[in-house]
Amino acid sequence: MIKRIGNIILIQISDADSNIYLLDDTIIDTGTGFNFTKLYTIFKSLGKSFSDIKQIINTHGHFDHIGGNGYFLNAKIAIHEKDAHIIENADEKDSYADYFDGHLKPRKVDQKLKEGDIIKGLKVIYTPGHTPGSICLLNEKNSIMFSGDTVFSDGVGVTDMPGGDEVALAKSIEKLSGLKFDKLLPGHGEPVLENANNVMAEMITQTS
Ligand SMILES: [Zn+2]
Ligand SMILES: [Zn+2]
Repeated sequence: MIKRIGNIILIQISDADSNIYLLDDTIIDTGTGFNFTKLYTIFKSLGKSFSDIKQIINTHGHFDHIGGNGYFLNAKIAIHEKDAHIIENADEKDSYADYFDGHLKPRKVDQKLKEGDIIKGLKVIYTPGHTPGSICLLNEKNSIMFSGDTVFSDGVGVTDMPGGDEVALAKSIEKLSGLKFDKLLPGHGEPVLENANNVMAEMITQTS
């Protein structure tokens, strides 16, 4: 299923897969990689092929967000420096691959992201807690926050997986609440298309 949010295309292929966001030649998270036919068919319907993708940005190193990276062999990979080892070492513990019954192949990370970096016009907001290297990506011009598994439309991310840290997550939610954005495009579930700051204010009460 696809949804268009301005120039952004949200692809949702199954409950196990992360949301996949397509921005021209850039993809934010790639799902599990289990649903080749579905994803291929969606790309075809959009007049695109996997080889058109030149940049992958992973919001963190969990398998449901990085498992599909292997489809995009023309793409450079960017992920926060603290989750980069998961991709480079095909770390099946920290990626939680066992839980998904999946396997990873080691792959070079081309860009190890840090707080404040700008990639493809998106500002990296470092938001550890769900994993040590979780990031959000802010499009300041269009007031859009891609939030990975740090925060969803209806709650905050879990911290009971490898590398999870409840205190760090609460701080990250507070940090996000201090930023201005209208739209919240999370790693799972439905996006918030207006007044996302109000939603964030509610999240603060969940973590404090
Ligand atoms: Zn996820
Ligand atoms: Zn996750």
